[in-house]
Amino acid sequence: MNDVRIDCWCITCDETIAHAQRLNGDFMLGATPRFIVCPDCGNKRCPRAAYHDNACTHSNEPGQPGSAYPALPAWDEADYRRDGDQALTALAASIARYDRQEEGE
Ligand SMILES: [Zn+2]
Ligand SMILES: [Zn+2]
Repeated sequence: MNDVRIDCWCITCDETIAHAQRLNGDFMLGATPRFIVCPDCGNKRCPRAAYHDNACTHSNEPGQPGSAYPALPAWDEADYRRDGDQALTALAASIARYDRQEEGE
């Protein structure tokens, strides 16, 4: 389990906290409906946007190791699989939502 900070901006912390809230029955809380980007370079595909301990690459190239886009990062696949496909689907949907928001800009 990664180190999760309650007030962190990164996708790992945001999704982990949202997932815990859903397990607690707080369905109204969910993942933060915002567009998460790296605080250093502003790129959503930067590995640092996916997790706060990752190094900033100053790159928005797809498929970077550690990036949340486009593949699900390995860290939460194990956690989410424990709770079944429903949680994974919810995570994938929230990531797809971020992608749509970017395309709409
Ligand atoms: Zn974080
Ligand atoms: Zn960055």
